[in-house]
Amino acid sequence: MAHIKAVKWVTKDKRRKGVFWPSEAMKKRAWVSDPGIYGKAARDQVAFWAARAEEGLEWKKKWINAYEEKKKPGAFKWFLGGRINASYNTLDRHIRSGRGGKTALIWVPELPDETTKRISYEELHRDVNRLANSLRRLGVRKGDRVGIYLPMVPEVITSLLACARIGAIHSVVFSAFSGESLKDRLIDAEAKVLITADGYYRRGEPKTLKESADIGVKGTGVRHVIVVKRTGRKIPWNKRKDMWFHEAIKREPDYCEPQFVESNETLFILYTSGTTGKPKGIIHDTGGYLTQAYWTTKWDFDLHDDDVFWCTADIGWVTGHTYGCYGPLLNGATMLMFEGAPDYPDPGRWWKVVADNGVTVFYTAPTAIRMFIKFGDKWIRKHRLDSLRILGTVGEPIDEEAWLWYFNKIGQGRCPVIDTWWQTETGGTLINTLPGIGPFIPTVAGLSFPGTRHAMLDSQGDEVGTGETGFLVQKPPYAPGMLRGVHRNPKKYFETYWSRFPGYYDTSDGAKRRKDGTIRLTGRVDDVMKVAGHRLSTAELENALNEHSLVRESAVVPKPDEIKGEVPVAFVVLKDESKASEELKKELVKHVDKAIGPTARPSFIYFVSDVPKTRSGKIMRRILRGIVKGDSELGNLTTLMNPECVKVLHKTVKKG
Ligand code: ATP
Ligand code: MG
Repeated sequence: MAHIKAVKWVTKDKRRKGVFWPSEAMKKRAWVSDPGIYGKAARDQVAFWAARAEEGLEWKKKWINAYEEKKKPGAFKWFLGGRINASYNTLDRHIRSGRGGKTALIWVPELPDETTKRISYEELHRDVNRLANSLRRLGVRKGDRVGIYLPMVPEVITSLLACARIGAIHSVVFSAFSGESLKDRLIDAEAKVLITADGYYRRGEPKTLKESADIGVKGTGVRHVIVVKRTGRKIPWNKRKDMWFHEAIKREPDYCEPQFVESNETLFILYTSGTTGKPKGIIHDTGGYLTQAYWTTKWDFDLHDDDVFWCTADIGWVTGHTYGCYGPLLNGATMLMFEGAPDYPDPGRWWKVVADNGVTVFYTAPTAIRMFIKFGDKWIRKHRLDSLRILGTVGEPIDEEAWLWYFNKIGQGRCPVIDTWWQTETGGTLINTLPGIGPFIPTVAGLSFPGTRHAMLDSQGDEVGTGETGFLVQKPPYAPGMLRGVHRNPKKYFETYWSRFPGYYDTSDGAKRRKDGTIRLTGRVDDVMKVAGHRLSTAELENALNEHSLVRESAVVPKPDEIKGEVPVAFVVLKDESKASEELKKELVKHVDKAIGPTARPSFIYFVSDVPKTRSGKIMRRILRGIVKGDSELGNLTTLMNPECVKVLHKTVKKG
């Protein structure tokens, strides 16, 4: 990759410490640099999104009505009567405009001596069309569900788009979930076909996947299993059901007529991460979702024709759907997919991938950033990261230390960090700073995306004042990418999102608006503590703890207390476990005291080597809450990445 001249995309605010703004170069290049966009979009949100849908996507038939909201809570529609196809918009459109030869996907295999694949829009189109024909041959019709249980291989993109091509609904299940978890989801989604693989590589070792897929399929309505050959190892084979992916598409024609669907028909079902409980099958529509995917990708990451966009999220999460597939491809961009573990063969691997492929936009999660901080800077220094222009983060509140590390070490002080708040339910980002507008402030996500509005409410449903923490809600008209239901569970849809605050979408997250109008997320509403009448947010407390030079990561939860109602309890993971001491506990308490105030003082601090996390890497405070209360029954643990730590934590807390 030719050396790219490193341009400074951000400048420091000379008056306010820790605040950054876009440089002149960034403003000049950016699609949007005029803050007036927010006001303009707010004047008529529906007109704003209608213009976006028209400009960004190609419709077979234009909608009759751009937006409609019924009295019933959560019953709203976008682009009624419009007809559209997601695969046509991600592929055919670019080929027609003469960009078929452009690389759509750079696929980097985990094995370092295996060759990186570059797949053009034309090649991707061919495979998508063949697979779509093959699915049709298997009897998959519009509206049918197809389960996808694949590792990070190019076929995963082919599979999503092939479903979309024929109007089938894909439901991806993260490949690290067990066969049993897969089964639950396949049954809930009523899938007819499953696309999986024989296995994948992890840390250089071939792993099997087909065995879990078989467990998952048993007793479900899945009639056919299409298997991608990745490792070539011997796998169990069921002659009646199984077929190889490469054989299934070999004899199929290169073209499959796209099935245009009404904009509000379902594009996919995806289960949430399961941080707070049982995952919900979130339903996303087609036209609205694609509109938000297109524009948030383009504006948040300021995506241009020469960019190489790498979103590290697995396709099993919504981030993988929107920013690892639909968003970049709708934009005709080049995106990168990496198959393996971030630290194989060494902790510098991701940075080597960035340097080798000239990645310009890089989007990851705080959990990954904290892991790289732990590995140490030497792994970064080995690689030239000059190609990077924009950094993004999503998934959890990012603490100040991690933000600054990301900004200084990975972005080398040149690249803005775009902290994007959103959810599986919102389909695309909703609260973040735009790179050409700024400001970029650690722990502050930013403003509502143009054409959307949020508010912070108290428990009575009244808006709280500036600087006060409240329940984060979205005001109507709702963003076009918003969920349209919970699969087979309209009651849950209503109760979870539309019942607590009538007339708003309830995010279940807490937030506060700062004086400059920007929004700071304070964590999940369930995680908020009430200590002696004061509301304390986990994000702020954890941020304060993480600031301490010896702390790698922390999780704070409330413990019931007779006098104060609740008191904060902190689980702290140290950078160096041997530094744990009673002295350090006292020091940390003092540190929190200074950063937030005496009410925030943790009553207990436990030094632990691990905290429970979801498979998407998020801290599961629900489990910790149960542990401090002494609950022996902790509910559903299947979405945990590290269930083994739960026992250890129980013991630690008992010992005191
Ligand atoms: P479940 O809904 O099953 O409990 P989950 O909420 O973890 O799982 P996701 O939809 O993947 O499932 O995550 C969305 C949540 O992640 C948000 O509601 C918020 O709590 C958190 N989050 C995401 N991005 C950010 C961010 N930039 N800052 C703060 N929190 C974030
Ligand atoms: Mg959630």
